[in-house]
Amino acid sequence: MTELTELGAAAAARAIHAREIDAGELFEAYRERAGADELNAFTWVAEGPPPPTDPAAPLAGVPLAVKDLFCTEGIPSQAGSRILEGYRPPYTATVVENLTGAGVTLLGKTNQDEFAMGSSNENSAFGPVLNPWDRGRVPGGSSGGSAAAVAAGLAPWAIGTDTGGSIRQPASLCGVVGVKPTYGACSRWGMIAFASSLDQAGPLARDVTDAALLLSHMVGHDRRDSTSVALPEPITLPTAEDLTGIRLGVPEELLAGGDDGAGIEPGVRESFEATLALAEGLGATIDTCRLPHAPHALSAYYLIAPAEASANLARYDGVRYGLRVGGEEDLATMYTRTRGEGFGAEVKRRIMLGTYALSSGYYDAYYGQALKVRTKIADDFRAAFARFDFIATPTSPWTAFELGSKADDPLAMYLNDFCTVPMPLAGIPALSIPSGCSDGLPVGFQLAGPAFSENPLLQAAHALERAIGFDGSQVRA
Ligand code: GLN
Repeated sequence: MTELTELGAAAAARAIHAREIDAGELFEAYRERAGADELNAFTWVAEGPPPPTDPAAPLAGVPLAVKDLFCTEGIPSQAGSRILEGYRPPYTATVVENLTGAGVTLLGKTNQDEFAMGSSNENSAFGPVLNPWDRGRVPGGSSGGSAAAVAAGLAPWAIGTDTGGSIRQPASLCGVVGVKPTYGACSRWGMIAFASSLDQAGPLARDVTDAALLLSHMVGHDRRDSTSVALPEPITLPTAEDLTGIRLGVPEELLAGGDDGAGIEPGVRESFEATLALAEGLGATIDTCRLPHAPHALSAYYLIAPAEASANLARYDGVRYGLRVGGEEDLATMYTRTRGEGFGAEVKRRIMLGTYALSSGYYDAYYGQALKVRTKIADDFRAAFARFDFIATPTSPWTAFELGSKADDPLAMYLNDFCTVPMPLAGIPALSIPSGCSDGLPVGFQLAGPAFSENPLLQAAHALERAIGFDGSQVRA
């Protein structure tokens, strides 16, 4: 790795501001790395001369990798799906616009599970992404390309989206930091929708400072997304070195792993407990807490998310975007052939699940019930946050698993999200930081806080990160 690309993103921005390094050279260094990507992390890499940058802009030309599902004007945006083959959007997502407005340069688009449905990046029309820690293993998903690119130093930082864990879980499996902000913190305008009441954009970065810096330029109200809100205060760069006075709650229900087999792997539990001990050493108090409805979060999520997806994906009909198969025969046949060939198996499964859950006669029994469980989960968190500042759990029950090992078992795949799904259902922010390794593979530690607690969460994560001292530099070599 060159000295240039070994610099973190915030450090690179500072060096550009101080005119110690040149943004064009930094861009070329990353483009070379991204262009030689052996992990299949990128679906598109920028070509041509480096775009002109303003060295005085806050992000000063630091390159950015963007998950494929963010619309980028004139640049392929397929959300990992064959059905959007050839689609080049006529506009750019607000979050990407905010970041380019702050000075970043677009390095490339990253691979992902099709329409963000998955936890292993194996559901992509572009093929799976390989985990840089072990190329026989998955990087997690659905933002697997973004996580792998950051971990392997193919990009200084990246953005992804999280609906049920798609930023935090791949961050955990690749040993990087991932933040899912409060629902509404980032505009969803121009994000190819999966489940609109859950989808949130967020940063993936090498450390908490870089993640905070990137997030600080992503957020904000956007009149084109009526669910977006202005944060009560700007995101600031964290400086905390201790956790004095912080009360951490450890939810029994999530640590128990549920009765359907999401037991936390011993190596993950060990790293989690070691991190709690570090937190205590930094001045935090730790106690168990209850989230009684959390074990039902997965069932509720796998009704609500597919229900919303089935509606959102109705627009891919072969007429308006991307792929069209046939068209000489009648319209219904063209729709059927386009959707039949354009969507992958997991996406079809979700459309069927969602359509069923919303159908008359089943609506109350499935979708309606799931919404009630969602409310109960939000209530559980509210009660817990009366006693605790943050909730701590492992991010994923296990470390990166072998490619193909869960691909034919959707239920086993869904269990990946056991600890990450409750937070988006409640709309609250959560992040994952690397807490160490188990058998040479990174483990993620998750912290969740009340709505709009991004700054205190980042502060706590910063203090912990320093105490953990995780070193991911070996996979960036
Ligand atoms: N793995 C979960 C799913 O497949 C979450 C995906 C996401 O957050 N986009 O739905």
